[in-house]
Amino acid sequence: MEITQAKVIRISQKTNGRCFYCNSKKAVEVDHFISKSKWKEWDLEGTPLKGELNTIKNLFLACAECNRSKHNKCPEDFFGNSYKIWNRYYRANKRIGLQQNN
Ligand SMILES: [Zn+2]
Repeated sequence: MEITQAKVIRISQKTNGRCFYCNSKKAVEVDHFISKSKWKEWDLEGTPLKGELNTIKNLFLACAECNRSKHNKCPEDFFGNSYKIWNRYYRANKRIGLQQNN
């Protein structure tokens, strides 16, 4: 599924229009939380992200700098703290009504 304008609006609501990673107001890009290259190993039964790569749950607004430096890294590796990044992930998705298991 493609990333439509309507999707981008919902995605930006998750972080109030700010970069998911650094809170910058210059968030202009849509980042795949789990990157395309990592998707195959993640798209497994029982993971919170089961489903398609471009599901809203997996997409976050990011500034150009964060998006560049994150690139294909795992979110934990980029952010440096696994607990914090997943906590942030769940809170941001909950903000727009997305639950952990759907
Ligand atoms: Zn950023």
